[in-house]
Amino acid sequence: MTGKLTPPAARTRLGLEMTAAVAPNSLQLQCCEQCTTVQYPPREVCRCCLSGDLTWRAVEPAGTVMASSALHHCLDPWFEQRAPWLMGSVKLDCGPLVLAHLAAEVTAAGSPVWVFSLKDASGQAVLIAISQSLALDQAQIRAQQLILSDLQEMT
Ligand SMILES: [Zn+2]
Repeated sequence: MTGKLTPPAARTRLGLEMTAAVAPNSLQLQCCEQCTTVQYPPREVCRCCLSGDLTWRAVEPAGTVMASSALHHCLDPWFEQRAPWLMGSVKLDCGPLVLAHLAAEVTAAGSPVWVFSLKDASGQAVLIAISQSLALDQAQIRAQQLILSDLQEMT
């Protein structure tokens, strides 16, 4: 029983833009309209050419887990009740290194994953990595199931 706890919802203005860009079954990240560089974390100007012409759009969701960590203790009550919580860094094939929640089956470095941007139980954007042992459409369903299970725990 988790009561009315929610994951941390505080976001920067750019974090709120990331939430607004969430679209079903995709990974939405900022892309530079001048040089096409995919950006992460969200930023004001392109990390490559410094253009301010950045647009949120669906990017290739494939990547590889670089490192993972299981959080066994957290000061935030929502995460504390769900420990151990799996997090990892994922090198996306489209360029950036992102931080994502990991599905239980993708903790090993080198694991190929699909990464999706979804809204968590606080209504804010998070990234979730799912094993590429699932086809892309099945991985999309698994990511939605993980998010929905957190939402159901809140009722
Ligand atoms: Zn650029």
